[in-house]
Amino acid sequence: MRLFIGLDVGGTSVKHGVVTAEGEIREQGEHTTAPGGGHALLNQLSEIITVYADRHELSGAGVGTAGAVDFARGRIVGHSPNIPDWSGTPVAAELTRRTAMTVRVDNDANCMALAEARIGAGRGCSSVLFLTLGTGIGSALLLNNRLWRGAHHMGGEWGHATIVEDGRECPCGKRGHLEAYASARALVKRTLQLARRGVSSQFAEISDAAPGGMGSREIFDAAAEGDAAAVQAIRETASHLATGIASALNLLDCERVVVGGGMAAAGDSFLVTVTNLVRERVHAGLAEFVRIVPAELGNRAGLIGAALLAADADE
Ligand SMILES: [Zn+2]
Repeated sequence: MRLFIGLDVGGTSVKHGVVTAEGEIREQGEHTTAPGGGHALLNQLSEIITVYADRHELSGAGVGTAGAVDFARGRIVGHSPNIPDWSGTPVAAELTRRTAMTVRVDNDANCMALAEARIGAGRGCSSVLFLTLGTGIGSALLLNNRLWRGAHHMGGEWGHATIVEDGRECPCGKRGHLEAYASARALVKRTLQLARRGVSSQFAEISDAAPGGMGSREIFDAAAEGDAAAVQAIRETASHLATGIASALNLLDCERVVVGGGMAAAGDSFLVTVTNLVRERVHAGLAEFVRIVPAELGNRAGLIGAALLAADADE
């Protein structure tokens, strides 16, 4: 049986594991990301690979990482705000040189989407739009069973679709993007804003500048208890997300939309609400085919998908 290493490199942690060509995890672990990025991070990744290679017969390694990636060259091309000194790093070539292993590198959302499409919530579908709603919105697109990476390594970035002309500022610096309206962070910000403006809420005393460890889970919990600001913010967020998804489906007519991140997991009824709004907004001929489902692989999706990339390269 062929085994591959999958590495999911984020700003705070590196998740890693040994995975079969079918996406089954045999062993896994997690490290805090080496501070400083760049060479320190390359050293850390090659050490992780070496430790696994001492214990298993391995056929290759895959790396999923934040930022835009030139997949063909295995090089980071975009700026990664959470990983310093990473842009321009020839990750595949450097890790192959250090470990003598074939290495594939891709954007982390692409890796998650690949895993969900093969063995998760999108299995059996040849076209999948994947969105993960976290601090930002990660997004990827699978068409005809293949990831669509675009002509300049920027394909599938639907988190930066404009849904409100001249709207809220997005973390990318532009205005009106989906990420500024439908990420978990945007939901928290909007709830606090409504609470400050006098909508009845348990969050009225929390400063927007210091929301502490609040995430979408707290907002959904509060909404379940009838918190008016939380209920309104969730309703608005569902509507904005539906606008983004409906526009994508009108262009692509994907079989399934897979939504990951805490928000999809936190609110059972949230995706039902989004689905109903998308059905109202897509082209009439598409409405009955809208399928929006929560991701199934959780935070293991990135490392599984990275390993699957390596398995594909080995065929
Ligand atoms: Zn943006």
